Amino acid sequence: MSQRPVRTPPERPELLLMLGSGLTVALIVIMVSVLLIREHASALEAAKRSTTNIAQLINADVLRNVELYDLALQGLIAATQRKDLSQVSADIRHLVQFERSAAAPFKGEVLLLDANGTVVADSSTLKPTPRNFADRDYFLAHKNAGQTDLFISRPFRVQCNCEQVWRIAFSRRVTGANGEFAGVAVATMRLAYFDQLFKGLTIGHSSSVNLLNNRGILLAQQPLLERDMIDKDLSDRANFKRMLRDGSGSFRAISAITDKERLYTFTNVGELPLIVVVALSSDDVFAPWNRAAMLTGGATGILCLGLLWLAWMLRRELRRRYRAEKVLSELAATDALTGLANRRILDQRLRLEWDRAQRSAEPLTLLMIDVDHFKAFNDRHGHHGGDEALRNVAQVIGSNIRRPADLAARYGGEEFAVVLPATDDRGAWLIAEHIRSGVEHLPRVAGDERPITVSIGLSTWEKRSGMSLEDLMLSADQALYEAKHTGRNRIVDAQ
Ligand code: GH3
Ligand code: MG
Ligand code: MG
Repeated sequence: MSQRPVRTPPERPELLLMLGSGLTVALIVIMVSVLLIREHASALEAAKRSTTNIAQLINADVLRNVELYDLALQGLIAATQRKDLSQVSADIRHLVQFERSAAAPFKGEVLLLDANGTVVADSSTLKPTPRNFADRDYFLAHKNAGQTDLFISRPFRVQCNCEQVWRIAFSRRVTGANGEFAGVAVATMRLAYFDQLFKGLTIGHSSSVNLLNNRGILLAQQPLLERDMIDKDLSDRANFKRMLRDGSGSFRAISAITDKERLYTFTNVGELPLIVVVALSSDDVFAPWNRAAMLTGGATGILCLGLLWLAWMLRRELRRRYRAEKVLSELAATDALTGLANRRILDQRLRLEWDRAQRSAEPLTLLMIDVDHFKAFNDRHGHHGGDEALRNVAQVIGSNIRRPADLAARYGGEEFAVVLPATDDRGAWLIAEHIRSGVEHLPRVAGDERPITVSIGLSTWEKRSGMSLEDLMLSADQALYEAKHTGRNRIVDAQ
C-alpha cells in the first residue's frame, strides 16, 4: 500500500526562511561595512584637512620670521657695501649696519664675517671680540659651495648663561665689488622659537610637529619623541625621501622612530630649504572611529545573531508543526483497526485514478473483497478475535500490492477494496488470487478447523468498455455478490 504525501514537505519554506534570513544578515553586514568604510575615509580626510591647516599656519609664521632675519642680513650686507659708511663714526656705522636686526624674535647674534671667517661686526657690541667661524657649515657653504641664496645652518649648541641653548644660523654671502667672496653675514636664532610656536598647537598626545631642513636634519620637534632628536640626520629615512621628492602632500606610513603607523602631512616653507611635517598617530586619527566601529559592529553582530536565532527557532517550529500535521493527516487517512487507507481516501484515489485512466487510456481494475461468514466467525471467537482476523486479512491484502499507485483500503465492516491502476483483468486476477490464497493459508485460530476465506469481485475498466466509474464499482460489487453465491472463497471477474 502506498500513501501520497498530503502536505507539502517543509524543505521549501525552510529553505526560503534560511535563505531570507541569511540574505538579510548579509545585507545588514554589507550596509554597516560600507558605512564604516566611508566613516573611516572621512575620519582620514578630516585629519588630513586639520593637519594641512596646522602645516599652513606654521608655514606662514616661519616664513614671516625668516623673512625678518633675511631682511636684517640684506640690510647688513647693503650697509657694508656702501663706500660712504667708512667715513662716519663707528657707532653710526653700527647703527646703520644693524638697524633692521631689532625686529627679529628669538634673535641671537647678528655678525659680519670677513673672507677669512673672522668677525668684523657684531650687533651686540661696537668692538667685536676677535673670533673666527671659518669652520662653520654656513661659512663653508658660501665660500666653497658658492651658496648665494639664504643659507640655513645645522642646529648648534651655544653656552648661554648656565645652559646650552640650541640655535640655527641664517646667512648670506657678501660679494665684493668684482663679484669675489668677501665674507658672510650671519644671524642666529634660538630654536626655542619653534618650540613656542609648536606648543601653541593642539594635536593628539602621540602625534608631533616637526621642522626639517632639506638635507634631512631635524631642527625642531614638539613633543620630542626621543632624547637627542635635535640635529639628528633623518635623510636616510624612506619617509623623509618621499617628502623631499613630493614637496607637499599627505601619506600614511610606519614611523621609524615609534614603529607605529602615522599620518604625515608635509609642506615646504615657501622657497626656503625647510619642510614642516605634522605627524598624527593613526591611533589618534582613528580613535573616535574605532569606538564607533566597535559599538556599531557589536550592535550589528548582536542584531544578526538575534535574527539568525529567530530564523532557527522558526525553522524548528515549522518542522514541529509539519510533523504534527503529518501525523494528523495520516490519522485522518488511515483506518484505525487495519492500518489500511480509509473509505475517504479510497473515494479520492479511485476518482483520481479514474480520471488518469481516462486520459492515458490504460486499464483500471477494482477488487471488492468481503470476508466470508464473518458474522459466524465473530460469534465463535468474539469481537476481539474478529478484529484480529480483520487485521490479518488487511495485512495479506496490503502485502500483495506493490506498485506505488496501487491502493488497498477498508471499505467498511469486513469489506475491503483494492484499486489497481494500469492493470488489466489478467494481471489483477493474479493479485486477487494471491490475496485469496494468502488469506486461506493464514494460520488457523486455535480450536477452529475452518480457515478464514474471502470472496473477491473483480472488474476492469478498459477504453472500449464504455463504463462509467459507477458502472465499474457496481460491476465489481456484482462480481463479489456472484462469488458469494457460487460458493465463496473465490474470485469472479465481472467480464
Ligand atoms: P457473507 O459470507 O455473506 O459475507 O457473511 P457475513 O457474515 O460475512 O456477512 P454479514 O454482512 O452478514 O456480516 C458481516 C459481519 O461482520 C457483521 C459484523 O459483526 C462483522 N463486522 C463488521 N465490522 C466488524 C469489525 O470491525 N469487527 C468485527 N469483529 N466484526 C465486524
Ligand atoms: Mg459483508
Ligand atoms: Mg462477509
